[in-house]
Amino acid sequence: MNFLTKFENSVKKTIKDYKLIKKKDKILVACSGGKDSTTTLYLLKKWDYNVEAGMVDLKIGDFSDRNLNNVKTFCKNNNIKLNIFDFRKEFGFSFCYIRDILKSKNIRLNSCTVCGIFRRYLMNKKARKLGFTKIATGHNIDDEAQTILMNQFRGNTKLNAKLGPINGIIKDKKFIPRIKPLYFCKEDDIRKYSKLKNFPVNYDPCPCSVMAYRRSVRTLLNKYKMNHENIVKSFLKIVPELKEFYKNGKIYYCNNCGEPTTNGECKTCQLMKKLVK
Ligand code: SF4
Repeated sequence: MNFLTKFENSVKKTIKDYKLIKKKDKILVACSGGKDSTTTLYLLKKWDYNVEAGMVDLKIGDFSDRNLNNVKTFCKNNNIKLNIFDFRKEFGFSFCYIRDILKSKNIRLNSCTVCGIFRRYLMNKKARKLGFTKIATGHNIDDEAQTILMNQFRGNTKLNAKLGPINGIIKDKKFIPRIKPLYFCKEDDIRKYSKLKNFPVNYDPCPCSVMAYRRSVRTLLNKYKMNHENIVKSFLKIVPELKEFYKNGKIYYCNNCGEPTTNGECKTCQLMKKLVK
C-alpha cells in the first residue's frame, strides 16, 4: 500500500473508531493556512462530508495575507465554501494591538495564549450561529503528546481531561464539539502528504509564535526519542476516567456576552475589559 493510501486509511480509521462524525453533521474546519488544517479540510471534502472552511483573519501582516490567500485558492480549487471571520471587525482591534496593550499593562500572557483564547471564542460563536454541529481542527499526535506532558508537568489534570480525539468534558448547546481527525497522524507524515498533494500551504512558522514551554517539551521528546504514540495511547486509556471525574463541572453563560464559559465572565471579555482599564 502506498504512503498516500496508508495515510488516508489511518485518518478514516480514527473517524470511524472514535465516531467523530455523524451523517447529519455540518462541519466547519478551523483553517490557518497551514498543512494540518488544509489536509483535514481536503480529506473531509474528499469523503463527501458536509464541510466548509472557517478562517479567523488575525491580520498579522504579510503572514496572515499569505495564509488567507492560500486558503482562498485551496477552497476555490476544491469547491469549498470559505467563511472568513475578521478579528478586527469582531473585537474592534487587531490581534497584535490587543497583545501589545496587554503586555504594556503587565498582563503576563504570551501571544499564543491570547491568540488561542480569542480564536476559540470566535470560531465557536460563528460556528454555532452558522449552524455547524462540529468544528474540526488539524491537531496531530505530536501536538497531543506535547500538550499531555505540558499539562502533566504543570499539574493541570483538568486541562488534560479535555483532550482526546473529541475535545471537551461537559456538553452544552452553546459549545460546538471539536474533533481531531488527524489525531493519530505524525506531523512529518502530514507534511509529506501535504507536499505530495501540492497543497498551497505556508510552511513557515507564525512570526508571533511564542511557545517557549511547548518548544522545550518538544525538544525533550525529540532528545530522548520518546514515542509520541506510546504517550498518547497510554493517555487515552485513562482519559475516560478523567472526563468522568470532571463531568459535574458547570457551564455558565458569560454575564457580559452570553458565550459559554466555566466562570461568570468568559476569558475573552475579561481580557477585553483589561484593555480599557
Ligand atoms: S503561532 Fe501563536 S500567535 Fe501565531 S497563529 Fe498560532 S497561536 Fe496564534
